[in-house]
Amino acid sequence: MMELKRVYWSRKALRLAYAAVMMWLGISVFLALMPKPTEVSGTGISSVTEVLRGMLESVLAAAALPGAFLVVLIIVAAVIRAQDLRRRDPVRRFTRQQRREGMARAAGLCEMEAGFRRRCSRPAEHGDHFYPWSKGGSTSLQNFVAACPRCNRAKGARIPSPGQQERIERRRRDYVAPNGPFSVGERQPLP
Ligand SMILES: [Zn+2]
Repeated sequence: MMELKRVYWSRKALRLAYAAVMMWLGISVFLALMPKPTEVSGTGISSVTEVLRGMLESVLAAAALPGAFLVVLIIVAAVIRAQDLRRRDPVRRFTRQQRREGMARAAGLCEMEAGFRRRCSRPAEHGDHFYPWSKGGSTSLQNFVAACPRCNRAKGARIPSPGQQERIERRRRDYVAPNGPFSVGERQPLP
């Protein structure tokens, strides 16, 4: 539970920071390219190359700081991606036994969310990795969610939100055997 919160929100923050830095970079470059009053009303002697060099210099100066932030963010994203790769479960497909147990636990119906945060409940055909396999999710019963083809496709390789996890676990109390288990989601440890 806490782990998903950390993983989900840190990645969300990274995407937000990336968007902000790109905007900062774009605005900085745009402002640097705006003609300056001195240049417009200049003597007219400055050659084209001088003007271009001046523009290039001001663009580079304006882009330096946001550019440095951008490089840092790109490095952080690369480290996260490399760690996801190292976490990957060598086994990707659920075993027959896991599928059988996972489907029985869900009574053969999709456990994912359709509109209004309610259970989808269409006939399930797939075993979905709650934590996506590509992002280090385990191929285990704990990480198994019964899904219909539509929900399975819609989810893709996105990491579900902590809210979605909480709601699946709450809904499971209604249809899983009274002694559970109700919890969902498992992530491979770093080797
Ligand atoms: Zn569904």
